[in-house]
Amino acid sequence: MSSRNNRRRQSKIDRRAIARSSQVRLINILENPSQYDEQIVLSSAQHLVKISQRHRLPIPSKARHLFCRRCLAPHRYGENIRVRILAGQRVVTCLECSSIRRYGGGPQHHRIQNP
Ligand SMILES: [Zn+2]
Repeated sequence: MSSRNNRRRQSKIDRRAIARSSQVRLINILENPSQYDEQIVLSSAQHLVKISQRHRLPIPSKARHLFCRRCLAPHRYGENIRVRILAGQRVVTCLECSSIRRYGGGPQHHRIQNP
């Protein structure tokens, strides 16, 4: 009579550990896009976000800059993103969906004023 609950026996900890190992695998693909098919790299970014949302895990910090957070396109430097330093901040523009994200620079009153 135990077969009914077999699939539910996996604990929350195990589930998250498995999800984390999947994240590592997907990030590995995103870090070495030249070794994989373009379609695989694209779906890796989508899977990474989906897994992280489903298991309520943060996306590892090293993976945050590997793809666009809006259209999930994997970033290829010089091809589909533009990176500029502006007023002490790193400004990343995705050329696929033209979303702009700014990183670093600290609080607003610490930044160099925009000319
Ligand atoms: Zn984008």
